[in-house]
Order: sequence, then structure tokens, then C-alpha cells
Amino acid sequence: MLWQSMKKQGLFITFEGIDGCGKSTQVRKAACFLEEKKIPILVTREPGGTPIAEKIRDIILSPDHDSMTNRCELLLYLASRAQHVQEKMRPALEKGVTVLCDRFQEATFAYQGFGRGFLLSTVNQLNQFSTNGLKPSRTYIFDISIECAFSRMKKMVKVPDRIEKSSKELYQKILEGYLKLASNEPSRIKIIDGEESIGSIYNKICDDLSVLFA
Ligand code: ADP
Repeated sequence: MLWQSMKKQGLFITFEGIDGCGKSTQVRKAACFLEEKKIPILVTREPGGTPIAEKIRDIILSPDHDSMTNRCELLLYLASRAQHVQEKMRPALEKGVTVLCDRFQEATFAYQGFGRGFLLSTVNQLNQFSTNGLKPSRTYIFDISIECAFSRMKKMVKVPDRIEKSSKELYQKILEGYLKLASNEPSRIKIIDGEESIGSIYNKICDDLSVLFA
């Protein structure tokens, strides 16, 4: 019992960047790397990650919801996160499980803050409420040009969702936002060149993970 309560918290690691930057590919590869090392992990994503949060995801991303207001969008992302954190992420971390999440708070700062133009202080306050203070201990931001991201997305068979239909101008603001966030917190947030090969990015992430888990 005492041992259980003293058990070390899992690490919380997030993968961020604009659509098509390659983060989902690297989440899968990082998960295999940690599994091989017998580190208990939970792989999840945002928006979504639990049945309720996935329903909110469907509402946010549906291409039919063109009339969604920016305020509604921001609050839905945070509603989804509140459910995800409390139901799934915090319990896992408390059990010592490492959580790998495809997007989290940096996406909200980049898309809704820098992209949609909400004050970062407002986004931060709402995010704090939704997460009850949970923050990633490591974040990888994949830096990739808008042209490269669009060309990758064009090659994918999937129908673009409401956010993926955004203009290049909006994506440019989001990308710049992500890089600004990284420059504000260089010890927690690592910028990865998303235009390198999948293997070379994987090696860099593995090197960093090896240090984190040493
Ligand atoms: P995201 O989750 O960031 O939207 P994905 O990981 O789904 O991006 O990758 C988008 C597309 O780009 C996929 O077809 C994937 O195979 C490809 N891709 C991912 N990483 C790279 C890379 N480093 N170089 C070239 N193509 C990549």
C-alpha cells in the first residue's frame, strides 16, 4: 500500500505540430521503442481519447460544421481535454504509466491562440481549468513548411476534416505560434525538423527518450 502510494509518476510526453507534420507516425514509433524497453505506456490523442471526448472530437472536426464559432471550437477542445485528463491520463500517470499523446495544450495555444487570435492569457486560463494543472514533461514540436505539409496531406486518401480545410495563411500563423511556444520553453519543448526522413527523426526522438528514461 505504502509502496503503491510512493510509486513514481509516469512521464507525460506530447507530439505537436501542424497537420501532416508526421507526429502520429512518430508517436507510433516511439511507442514501439518504449515497449521494447518494457516501459509501461498509454498511447492516446487529442481531441478525443475517451468515448465522450471522441464524440466531442467528431463535433469539432466534422466538415459539416463550417458555422462553428471560434469560441465554441475553443471550448469544445477544452471540454474534450477535461474529460480525457480526468478519466484516462491522470489515472495512468498516477499508476506510473508513461503517456504519449498526439497533441495537447500546445495545439490549443497554437491553433486557437496564435491561429484564431484569442489572447494567450485567456487560452492559458481556460486550459489550466480544463487540465486542472496537468502539463507535459516533454513536448516534441515537428517543424515543417506549409508547402510540405499540404503536399503530404494531398497524398493521403482521407477526406480533410474541418480544421485540415484551413487556409495556408492560417496554417502559417499556427506554425509560427508553435515555434514561439518552443522558444519560450526550450528545456521542455524540443523542435524536431519534420522534413528529415522518418528514420532520422525517430533516431533523434529515441536519443532524447533514452536520456529522459535514464
Ligand atoms: P500528422 O499526424 O502530423 O498529421 P502523419 O504522421 O499522419 O502526420 O503523416 C502524414 C503523412 O506524411 C503520412 O502519409 C506519413 O506517412 C507521411 N510522413 C510522416 N513523416 C514523414 C517524413 N518524415 N517524411 C516523409 N513523409 C512523412
